[in-house]
Amino acid sequence: MIKEQRKPVLFIGHGSPMNAIEDNLFAAAWRDVALTIPRPKAILSVSAHWETDGSMVTAMKSPRTIHDFYGFPQELFHVEYPAPGAPELANHVVGLFKGNDVTADESWGLDHGTWSVLRRMYPEADIPVLQLSLDRQKSPREHVALAQQLLPLRDEGVLIIGSGNIVHNLPLIRWHDNASYPWAAEFNATATEFIRGGDLDRLTDYAALGEAARLSIPTNEHYLPLLYSLALRTTADPVSVFTDEIVLGSISMQSVMIG
Ligand code: ZN
Repeated sequence: MIKEQRKPVLFIGHGSPMNAIEDNLFAAAWRDVALTIPRPKAILSVSAHWETDGSMVTAMKSPRTIHDFYGFPQELFHVEYPAPGAPELANHVVGLFKGNDVTADESWGLDHGTWSVLRRMYPEADIPVLQLSLDRQKSPREHVALAQQLLPLRDEGVLIIGSGNIVHNLPLIRWHDNASYPWAAEFNATATEFIRGGDLDRLTDYAALGEAARLSIPTNEHYLPLLYSLALRTTADPVSVFTDEIVLGSISMQSVMIG
């Protein structure tokens, strides 16, 4: 058997679902980053938009495209991303988490945290895709420990993608003024510094990072996918930030490649 080259890991700042259909610099960056990665056998996505009690892995043959938003143009509701699932791989992933409360799921599918990005990266939708949910019972540190158990998948041809936003404050969004809030820019820069410096501990303990962190992470479902991605970094992996903008005042579009 030919040994697989270890796959990189991505964290994608996904932002608005409109990034799935608008031609903008994020769509272009997602397309371009995929071109730098040898074709994966499968993709495992940890999306901000699937929170459960206990972790779950999608295990159906044909995951449905979930349009989990409202107030957007009809065109967006017509987007389908018909990538196959991978039931055998899903069972393998469940097995990697021995001792943890992780189960196979037959009811979810692909939410927009996954398909809005993959539609740009792999428009043919011909690579099997799994999603791993976020267990709302777990602390950030427990999420990191769980994520680290996914490491063998990188050597099995699986591309792991965390999809969220490092700064994500919807109530404070500035719809008509793109200027970043000072606290959003501050925390985004702090996160970049810790990402580049490999300081996962301080990123995990974000609650100790003060007011800018508190406003940037009012709820942590968009932030946790970053921790999943960084937890899979080995000492041999370089890390690079490949998009980094604040949009709508309070959403960071920072994306990271590890490896
Ligand atoms: Zn989102």
